[in-house]
Amino acid sequence: MIKAVVCGAAGRMGGRIIALMKEAGDFELAGAVERPDHPAVGKDAGEVAGVGKAGVPIGADLARAAAAGQVGFDFTAPEAALRNIEKAAQAGLAMVVGTTGMKPEALDRARELAQRIPLLVAPNMSVGVNVMYTLLAQAAARLGDEYDVEICEIHHHFKADAPSGTAAKMAQVVAGALERDLGQVGVYGRHGIVGERQPKEIGVHALRGGDIAGEHTAIFAGMGERIEITHRAHSRDNFARGALRAARWLVGRPAGLYDMADVLGLK
Ligand code: NAD
Repeated sequence: MIKAVVCGAAGRMGGRIIALMKEAGDFELAGAVERPDHPAVGKDAGEVAGVGKAGVPIGADLARAAAAGQVGFDFTAPEAALRNIEKAAQAGLAMVVGTTGMKPEALDRARELAQRIPLLVAPNMSVGVNVMYTLLAQAAARLGDEYDVEICEIHHHFKADAPSGTAAKMAQVVAGALERDLGQVGVYGRHGIVGERQPKEIGVHALRGGDIAGEHTAIFAGMGERIEITHRAHSRDNFARGALRAARWLVGRPAGLYDMADVLGLK
């Protein structure tokens, strides 16, 4: 049994991770953490997740919960995620971090902390999305500069950050395959008289609405044809299942920074 601590236990992803851990049978919920002012603090984590009593009350500090676990999950918010990685590094707890929107400085600090613990950071834990990154790199490299690349994503109206971490990664993958600097060629939305599209632009566009779990499309538009590569998440469960798969893979690894491509053997 893998003993796991879930940060963001009362959140949408945290709840599904707790539920699917129970279904999987090879995980034991060793701790659950929320922000101190969350009304779920003190309540049973299983009941909050809607899967019956787990016998684990939701706490307010990972530093206290970490000792009981072999691996932690973090699906919280960017600042909280970095604090949780710091606490995990102090406690020697392996961490699977799915939180998106972390700033580059925060990711640099996470890389330093990964010298002390096995740390897996993946803005998208879906197996399908990670395979899609490989397809995008192949398509971009083969199609080359004659095809305009635009990336669109759509998510539920609760999502706080834009573009999604996945769309940002897709743009990076395409830029890398085309040997472009995304800082120079990335165009995030368009409005007003923006003029003709520049040939090497990589457009990234975010749509929001309803309860959409997440869809990403890369359009490679040439003269007379286009290719669209789309991934559609049907529910949050594919991310939660990917997070469990990542945790199984991560426990017992040496300290270091990993991502889903390591888990899936895509490197
Ligand atoms: P959510 O708002 O439903 O849940 C986040 C939870 O974290 C909330 O309950 C909040 O109270 C809690 N939280 C905030 N600060 C905390 C702290 N310091 N300690 C413990 N808990 C804290 O959001 P969500 O939809 O579950 O998404 C959470 C994050 O995961 C977002 O960044 C989202 O973009 C990301 N996400 C990633 C993937 C992936 O595959 N990597 C998939 C879905 C969502």
